Amino acid sequence: MPNRGDLLAQRRRLLATLPPLGEVLRGSFFVRRLRCGKSERCRCGRGQLHRAAYLSVTFKDGSTQQISVPRPLEPLARTWVRNYARWWQGIERISAINRELIRRRLVGPTR
Ligand SMILES: [Zn+2]
Repeated sequence: MPNRGDLLAQRRRLLATLPPLGEVLRGSFFVRRLRCGKSERCRCGRGQLHRAAYLSVTFKDGSTQQISVPRPLEPLARTWVRNYARWWQGIERISAINRELIRRRLVGPTR
């Protein structure tokens, strides 16, 4: 069973691996292939569909917002979405450690 020092070290390591909190984005990133419908002669008319990337987010009231993401910003958007998941995983792991610290009375009332 990990002792107090192990748990605190584990928590410190977890914190150190988290990306900057300013670089998170809740939502999902996805790519669609579509026809533009602009012209019969466009390449998409011959089956070479256009590529379009989006960020989609759903709100508490059930509404969804979708925004398009230009190609140069795709890596950034992907990273921010991934960072959001990493933060939640980190919060869950840190919560588990903190639960353990309290359950086993390994922390005092100050901090
Ligand atoms: Zn087209």
